[in-house]
Amino acid sequence: MNDTLRVPGDVLAALDRAPGRALMLGHVHPDADVLGTLLAIAEALRARRWSVVAGGPHRAPDALSFLPGVEGYEVLKTLDGTFDVVVLTDCPNPDRTEGLIDAAKDAAPVVVNIDHHPDNRRYGTVNWIDVGAAATGEMVYRLLTALRAPVTPTIATNLFTAVHTDTGSFRYSNVTPETFDIAAALTAAGARPEVVSSALYERRAPDALRLLADALARVRVSDDGRVAWLALPSGAVPERLIESEELVNYPRSIGSVKVACLLRELGGARVKVSLRGKGEVDVNKIAAAFGGGGHANAAGCTVSGTLEVVTRRILDAVSAALAAPR
Ligand code: AMP
Ligand code: MN
Ligand code: MN
Repeated sequence: MNDTLRVPGDVLAALDRAPGRALMLGHVHPDADVLGTLLAIAEALRARRWSVVAGGPHRAPDALSFLPGVEGYEVLKTLDGTFDVVVLTDCPNPDRTEGLIDAAKDAAPVVVNIDHHPDNRRYGTVNWIDVGAAATGEMVYRLLTALRAPVTPTIATNLFTAVHTDTGSFRYSNVTPETFDIAAALTAAGARPEVVSSALYERRAPDALRLLADALARVRVSDDGRVAWLALPSGAVPERLIESEELVNYPRSIGSVKVACLLRELGGARVKVSLRGKGEVDVNKIAAAFGGGGHANAAGCTVSGTLEVVTRRILDAVSAALAAPR
C-alpha cells in the first residue's frame, strides 16, 4: 500500500505545516472510533509542538477510560479562541456536533473532515471520505504513516481500539485484507490485542450480568424470526449498562435475524434507535427516513414519540424494507 498516494494532498497539507493551535472535535456520544482517531492525531501533532485541544459535546464514556490520553478529552459547549486547523473524524454531519461545527468554522480557516460514513455531508473545507474503510481508525493510520509521524504504542492502542470496535472485533462484513494489514502494523507498533479486548469486554461490574439479564428479558422476535428488537423504557436499565454493553448485538446474534433494533426511550418523548443489518437491507436507508443515518449494516436515528409508537413505526419500516425487492 502506498499511503502517500491514498491520502489526499489537501489533507496532508492541512496538517504537515508549521505548528499552531489545533482542535480535535468529536461527535455526540463519542465511541472508540472517534476518540481513538482524535487522540492519535492529537498525540502526533503535539509531538510536532502543536498546541492541541481535544473535545466534543459529550464526555468520553467510562467504558473507554482506558484509551491513552482520553483523560484530556474535554466536554465543550463553546469554543475558546481561534485555531489554525480543526479536525473532525467519524462525523458524517454537522448535527452530530450539537452546533460546535459552526463555531469551529468561525474559529478556524481550515476544517478537515475525515470519515468513512457513506452519508457524509462534506461539511469541511477539506473532506476525505473513504466508505471502504472499516473504521476511521484505518484512515488515520494511513494518514499518520503518510505524514511520517511515529506510531507510538499509545497511538497504536488508540487506533487498534478504533478498528477493533467498528469491526465488531474483526467480525463484520466491513473487514478487508487491509484491516488486518493495519491491525498487524498497529500490533507491531505496540498495541496489545489482549489488553484491548480485556479492557473492552472483561471489565464488567459485579452486578452487570444480572442487569443484562433483566434487559435481555425484553428482547422480542418477530413471528418469522427475521427481526428482533429490544425496547427499553427510560430508567428500565441503568445508563452505565447501556454505555458499557452494545445491547443491540444481542438481538443481532439470533441466527434467523436479518435486522436487529434497539429502541431506548429518552426524556422529552424521544426514542433513540439503533439498527443493525446483515446485508439483506441497508439499515441506513431506514434510519435516513427518520432523519438519521449511518452505514449499510449499522445505523441510527432519534425519533419523536412514545416508545410504543416509535417501536411500531420502526418495525413497520423494517418489515417494508425486508419485503421490498433489492
Ligand atoms: P449506533 O446505533 O448509535 O451505535 O450508531 C450506529 C451508526 O449509525 C454509527 O455509524 C452512527 O454514526 C450512525 N448513527 C447513529 N445515530 C445517528 C443519527 N441520529 N444520525 C446519523 N447517524 C447516526
Ligand atoms: Mn463513531
Ligand atoms: Mn466509525
